Formats: sequence, structure tokens, C-alpha cells
Amino acid sequence: MRVCISSAHGKNVSGAVGILNEVEESRRIVPEVVKYLKQAGAEVIEFHENNARDKNSNVNAIVAFHNSQQRDLDVSVHLNSVDGGIREAGIGVEVLYLTGNTQTHKLASHVARAISNASGLILRRGDGTLVSNLGFMRLTNKPAILIEVCFVNSQTDAGLYRENFDSICRAIAKAITGQMIPAAKTQTAPGTACDAPASGKIIDEPDKPVPIMGISSIAAEVMAVFLLSRSPEPKINCTPHELAMLYIKEGMAEGIRGDIAFCQAIHETGWFRYGGDVKPEQNNFAGIGAIGAGAGGAVFDAPEIGVLAHIHHLKAYASNEPLVSENKSPRFHLVTRGIAPNWIDLAGRWAVPGFDSKRFNNIGDAYSRGETYGQQILKIYESLKHYASLAGYPAYTPASDTSKNAEHWAEGSFQYLNYMGVTIHERRFDDAPTRGEMFALLEQYDRNFIKASKK
Ligand SMILES: [Zn+2]
Repeated sequence: MRVCISSAHGKNVSGAVGILNEVEESRRIVPEVVKYLKQAGAEVIEFHENNARDKNSNVNAIVAFHNSQQRDLDVSVHLNSVDGGIREAGIGVEVLYLTGNTQTHKLASHVARAISNASGLILRRGDGTLVSNLGFMRLTNKPAILIEVCFVNSQTDAGLYRENFDSICRAIAKAITGQMIPAAKTQTAPGTACDAPASGKIIDEPDKPVPIMGISSIAAEVMAVFLLSRSPEPKINCTPHELAMLYIKEGMAEGIRGDIAFCQAIHETGWFRYGGDVKPEQNNFAGIGAIGAGAGGAVFDAPEIGVLAHIHHLKAYASNEPLVSENKSPRFHLVTRGIAPNWIDLAGRWAVPGFDSKRFNNIGDAYSRGETYGQQILKIYESLKHYASLAGYPAYTPASDTSKNAEHWAEGSFQYLNYMGVTIHERRFDDAPTRGEMFALLEQYDRNFIKASKK
């Protein structure tokens, strides 16, 4: 494995300055990470930019250096800052990756988690990753991550960083060498030749927890058909497709995995057959406020509100970030924010005790059998993914060039519009649209995007 790693900004181009100085600290971190990468058997190329006088030429010089090297992975080390001066609270670590690159996302999440575990720095945005089209990610022509180790103007972050400097550097090296190297990017920077796929050892991480925050990977259409395949007459006050679209769309707005939230709803409602304390007319898809012994829980006026409440309630558990839309969960304030970033963390929190106490002595027993609350949700999600692949729908990864391998050039556009909730029920790629279909399509587009973006 060959890694090209560079420090933030340049000798003459300042980065963030607060309690810590970004350029100085990243120039301390990189050589240490290089040392540990080499100890782990990686070949490493190290770079610090010393000549540029302005931001643009600095970025260009860094990118040009990376692209001039033989390597499997590009890494850039930064420290972050927020507006508003010095603050006491911790803000945490985050690792940036290029939009739509799911393999690099995995690596980014792995590195963020390793830093957090080594130092106590919190995972920003729930899972410590952020999609980004920054120049470094977009213009380098190998898989790339940009590590924002911590925030220069947070006293907590600076303290944790100083105390755990060596552990952080080790953790970064270990996470990079222990993790599979993502395949080459699908997007190639202008003016560069097409890359050969990156080589490298592939180590999968079966035990890596699945975060609640993230981008859905299954199209609404597939989710609806999947539900109908098991439950032909689901008791929902809208069509299954409309419900799936709500989960994708509202999930996306709040940064929640709408596809897995839909699986949670399937689990909670028994494939929308109901039969427990909650009744179908409540539009309460996740048992919010249904605490057993006949307590039916919250009532929502319409499926739209029920989905919003479900997504908002998940965000209370999974993240410290504020809600984008007005809160609809009546129990939002009862949740300790960010206490359960992963689906498996919901056992004993969202659902108490979170396992079948008649079958298992304790949560550990249930966990080892894959039968805790979160594991059951993820099992449904696994079968949804399996169903999607059998049905010929690839998991949707935004910004990936789906059209390249598809039978029709418009397949990628179809997937995208479907995923975004602009309904086109059938492919029929080469048929001329009727006027009616055009009107319906434009109306959907207006409802889902134009109106939504003005909200
Ligand atoms: Zn920076």
C-alpha cells in the first residue's frame, strides 16, 4: 500500500488559528503518522507545501504533488475552526470524503472513529464524516480523505488533542493500514488520464456498526415493492410508495438513513399489519410513546407528520445537530441528544429492554444471537438490500455514474429521480411522454424540490 500524505495549507498560507495553529500542528501530526504508517508496512510519500503565496496556488501545488506520485490513497491533515471565537465545548473530529464515494466514506468513518476512540474527541455530526467537494478531494485522482483532527478554537478539543497527540497519530496510521483501500474514483479530474483501479489489500469490517445518520442507498420504489412482497395489504393511510418517498425525502433533509428508518417502521408495525397497542389510524410508525400495557402512544394527523416525527425522534438519539424542520416528535425533549449514533445503540434506549426477555437472560445474550432491537432492524435492511439486488436495482450511490454500466444511458437519471422522490413508475426509456405524464412529472418536481427548497 502506498499512501501520499500532506499537511494543511502552506508555510506561507495560513490555515485556522485559535488555541492551536492549524499549519503548525498538521506539520507535527503528518511526520508522526508517516512514522507509524511505515512501521505498519506502508510505503509513504510525505509533502509540505512551502512556496505558494495564496490559497489557490497552494491548493493547486498540493494537488499537483499528489497527482505526480504513484499511490493508492491521498490523505490531507487539517484542523478545523468555527466562527465566534474560543469556546469551551468540544466540537470533535470529522473526516471528509468525496460525494458519493461509498468506499471512501467507509474509510473516512473508520479513521474518524479511530481518532475519537484514541482521544475522546467526539464524532462530529454523529458519525464523524462529511461529504465534501473541496479541491483536495475533487482534484486528486486517487481515493482521498481529508482529516479535520479537531477544532483549533475549542478548549475541550485542544486539551484532548494535546493530551492524546501520540495516540491520535498512531490511530490514524492504524486505521488507514488496517482498512480496505477504496477502489479508484469514478470521477476523474479534468486533464488527467483515467486511473487504473487502485490495488491494495481488502479487509472488510463485518462488525462495524451502521450509523443512523447517513445517506439512504435504496430507491423508494424498491422499498415499496419490498414491503408489498411480504405484506400485500399494508394498513397505511397513503400508498406504500408515498410512504417510502417520505422516508427518503425527510430522512435526507435531516441527514437520517430514511431507508433503514423505513425498516424500523416495518419492524415496529409488523409489516404494517399492526395488531399491537398502536392502531393504523395513528400514523405512528415507530411506536413513539407506546410504552406497553395498552398505552397506544402518539397520534399523528397524517402519514407526513408521522414520518417527520419518526425521523426527528431518530435524530434526537443519533446526533447533536439541530433539526432542519419544525419538531414533530412529542418525546424529542426526553432524549439525551446523540446518545445512540448507531442502530444497534437503540436497544435499551428507544426500545426497553430492547430484547425478548422471555428468550434471553440479558442484552448481551440477545446481542450474541443477533436479536437485539437494532440488530432486528438491520436484518430487515439486509433483506431489503438483497431484494433490491435480486430485483436488479443497484443500491443508489449519489453522484456515482450509474449510467456507465447500465443497459440504458438514462438509467442513472432514472435512479436519481426515483431516489429523490420524483416518481417515474416505469423505465420505458425510449417511449415519448404523454402530455399528462409531463404535467405529473413537473408537478412532482415542483412539490419535492422547488417548494421544499423555499421552505
Ligand atoms: Zn484547513
